[in-house]
Amino acid sequence: MTRALEAGGNASSVHANGRAARGAVEVAREAVARLAGARAEDVIFTSGGTEANALALWGAVYGALEAEARLTRIFVSAIEHSSVRANAEAIAARVAGVRMAEIPVTADGIVDVEALRVMLREGKGRTLVCVMEANNETGAIQPIDAVAKHVCDAGALLLVDAVQAAGRIDIACDADYLTLSAHKLGGPQGSGALIVKAGAPFASLIAGGGQERGKRGGTENVAGIAGFGAAALIAAMRSDAARLTNLRDRFEAELLRRVPGTTIFAAGAPRLCNTSNFALPGIAAETALMALDLDGVMVSSGAACSSGKVRPSHVLKAMGVADDLATCALRVSFGWNSTESHVDAALAALEKFVARARPRVAA
Ligand code: PLP
Repeated sequence: MTRALEAGGNASSVHANGRAARGAVEVAREAVARLAGARAEDVIFTSGGTEANALALWGAVYGALEAEARLTRIFVSAIEHSSVRANAEAIAARVAGVRMAEIPVTADGIVDVEALRVMLREGKGRTLVCVMEANNETGAIQPIDAVAKHVCDAGALLLVDAVQAAGRIDIACDADYLTLSAHKLGGPQGSGALIVKAGAPFASLIAGGGQERGKRGGTENVAGIAGFGAAALIAAMRSDAARLTNLRDRFEAELLRRVPGTTIFAAGAPRLCNTSNFALPGIAAETALMALDLDGVMVSSGAACSSGKVRPSHVLKAMGVADDLATCALRVSFGWNSTESHVDAALAALEKFVARARPRVAA
């Protein structure tokens, strides 16, 4: 990234600096494609996972319209990231003849494949199915191969958001559209990709100078793309999964022992190694979050915050978790730079905070 920033070339320029920038972009494209088990020419670089999901959904709908094989239904799993849900909702609201339906999940946050099969069989119309590879709140890994089989049998299209799964599990799958984000695998923020399988309907939404094979106009973010490529290369070569699974499992076992009453969500599901989502019943997430932050421990709330109002997470709601427990949900993430001492510090801070907060809750 530093080299790209120093050189400052535009990847579309024909002079030496431009050619060097183009080289960096194409090396990154190869690395990202390899990570996803895809072809380099199908990779479209974007400004991140949100743009990639928006581009996939709107691009599929308009692409199908242009190919005179219009999409009339979008099925979205109940646990999709808001960048999928909100764009599907916007399409259903703004594009005549397209409706959206939700695919339910089990209590462990796994997509109900049988329900999807029935939804695909019932009713008419060409369908786009959106199921993520792994959930960003619980880490629950979804049965993508089974989903892809039903989608293929029904002649439908499949969008797989692999943002959380990339670099942690093998993400190669039979998706028509697959989305990635660099910062989830150690790359820079503001860099991502959409991979469109050859033959899948797709219309460009950002016309411009013809960049990204005319599929996404705009001068490429060469440094961001170079960083994404480097992260993808490292992720494909070296897996940290076993070490992180040990850290996560030790954290959860100790938490259950030291803070009785803790609920761990999706504990029965196959999960990514980097996520632990739990609730300390009776203690609101935002109270815990602020107290832990003062102690130097940075965790996330499992709840979505919008316009200053904290709402229970739609993911936990879809899993049947009651609102009063869902508002207590905290999320701890483990990454390439997490260590045993971080786990010890987080456990100590949690134990100290609960000892202070619980008597007040009981009173
Ligand atoms: N999809 C999932 C599953 C995510 O977890 C995120 C980010 O948290 C996104 C999409 C959006 O990616 P970005 O932050 O690059 O816009």
